[in-house]
Amino acid sequence: MKRAIFPGSFDPFTIGHYDIVMRGLQLFDEIVIGIGQNGEKSDHQSLQTRMDAIRHTFADEPRVQVRAYSTLTVDFAQEVEAQFILRGVRDTRDFEYERSIAEANRQMTGIETILLYTRPEYAHISSTLVRDLMHYGKDVTPLLAPDKH
Ligand code: ADP
Repeated sequence: MKRAIFPGSFDPFTIGHYDIVMRGLQLFDEIVIGIGQNGEKSDHQSLQTRMDAIRHTFADEPRVQVRAYSTLTVDFAQEVEAQFILRGVRDTRDFEYERSIAEANRQMTGIETILLYTRPEYAHISSTLVRDLMHYGKDVTPLLAPDKH
C-alpha cells in the first residue's frame, strides 16, 4: 500500500492543489491531505471551513482523506503511516525550497518527497492570489477546486 501525504496550508484549496492530488492518485493508493497549522501564517479561512471544502471536493474519492496537523510534517507522515510526501512545484523558487526540506525529511526518516510539476495553466495560481481577489470581491470560482455536490 503506497500512501502519501499532501501537506500544505490550503488557505484556500485551489484548482492547482486539486490537480496535484488527482495526478498523485495515479502514483499512490491513498493520499492524506494534511492541513498544517504552523502558527506563523494567519488563517484567512478557518480550519473547519478548509476541511469541509476539501472533504466536499473529494466526497466521491475514497482514496483521499483530509486531516489537520500541528506537528512537524514528517511526524504527521509517520503518524498516518505514509511513505511519501507529495508536493507541487510551480517555479524555481518552489523547487529550491522543496529541495532543502525534502533532504532534511529524508535524512530524518527515510520518507521520500515526490514533486509534480504544476500544469502551466495553473502555475500562476496561489492561495495568496485567490485571497487577494476575494478581498476585492472578485469571483474566484474558476481558481478553486471543483465543488462536487
Ligand atoms: P505551503 O504553505 O506548505 O506551501 P500551500 O497550501 O501554499 O502550502 O501549497 C501546498 C502545496 O501545493 C505545495 O507543494 C505547493 O507548491 C503546491 N501548490 C500550490 N499552488 C499550486 C499550483 N497552482 N499548482 C501546483 N501546485 C501548487
